[in-house]
Amino acid sequence: MLAKRLDNLHPYVPGEQPKDRVYIKLNANENPYPPAKEVGEAVAAAVKSQPEKMGLYPDPDANELRAAIADMINQSGGVLSNKNARIPFTVTPDMIFCGNGSDEVLSFVFYTFFDSDRPIVLPEHTYSFYPVYCGYYGIPMDRVPLKSNWSLDTEKMIADANTSDSATIFANPNAPTGIALSRDEVAAMIRRCPKDKAFIVDEAYCDFGEESCIPLLAEFKNLVIVRTFSKSLSFAGQRLGYIIANPELIQSVFTVKNSFNHFPVDFLTQTAGIASCKNWSYYAENACRVKEERQSMTEFLRARGWFVIDSQTNFIFAKKDGLEGEKVYQTVKKAGILIRHFSTPGIEEFVRISIGTKEQMDSLKEAMKDL
Ligand SMILES: *Cc1c(COP(=O)(O)O)cnc(C)c1O
Repeated sequence: MLAKRLDNLHPYVPGEQPKDRVYIKLNANENPYPPAKEVGEAVAAAVKSQPEKMGLYPDPDANELRAAIADMINQSGGVLSNKNARIPFTVTPDMIFCGNGSDEVLSFVFYTFFDSDRPIVLPEHTYSFYPVYCGYYGIPMDRVPLKSNWSLDTEKMIADANTSDSATIFANPNAPTGIALSRDEVAAMIRRCPKDKAFIVDEAYCDFGEESCIPLLAEFKNLVIVRTFSKSLSFAGQRLGYIIANPELIQSVFTVKNSFNHFPVDFLTQTAGIASCKNWSYYAENACRVKEERQSMTEFLRARGWFVIDSQTNFIFAKKDGLEGEKVYQTVKKAGILIRHFSTPGIEEFVRISIGTKEQMDSLKEAMKDL
């Protein structure tokens, strides 16, 4: 009865959302701060003053939202936690595509840019949804192991992309390591990879780092940057993600979207998303707080003999010799805190800890101090 293609599906397993007690959730890289109060107000006002809009189809192309995203990027410079970030040109709404969370946006990206006749190049350890979509669309993978210092093996990735004339995808900063390539390093990669194949950079965590690759769009017509509202914009429950790329590529993604679901972003999400963009400076302050807590937690663990990778994200990836990640996870769970461990070979020793508020991190430190 079931289609054969289901044999190729290996669904993504998200961070657990248990109902048995109230946990401090540091396992899904969600933002610990609530949305700006203006976001709730905008939604309430829309429901009250224009309830008929909930019964009508939304703007299929989310034009006002795309303009608001462009404004936010131009004003903030593309990295919320870095006041010195600048984009040397003006990002225009026709460079933006919005979808129902960046997971959906990534699905459109895989469909638009990757063929099944050759493997895409990606790191062995990166966002675990990419292999899921490869199974879904029947796209072969060339998974390049990380270097011994856990950063991307860019030389091997470039060599492989040229050998098989392939597209490339990775998260920058990468997950679950938290390590970012600099913009210059990414530019050097794109310059040496096939020019007629898409080069995808997933900037889900970029607002907690130092540099965005958005400025590279002026030089590289094949660069596609994917971003999400889920992490830095406290929007994981609302579902909103977007692409920034050159307008011709964006048009191709629209063709794919309009062949699948004409209206991915609903009216209330568009309303809330626009209000979020207008209040970006509130989120910028929160991202800076996350960076401070990240530094504090890193120092706390290092002082106790842990190996902690320097992170440019809202989580840290850490291990201690002789301790299994699962053991650490179980210990802090008993204290009412959820973090993430992995059964993926090569990273079983690690835990991934999302950075919460100061109070949440103080509780975690208490739970981990004797480990
Ligand atoms: C969280 C995350 C996403 C997904 O974000 P959503 O917009 O919530 O679907 C995409 N890529 C990476 C690397 C992520 O960590």
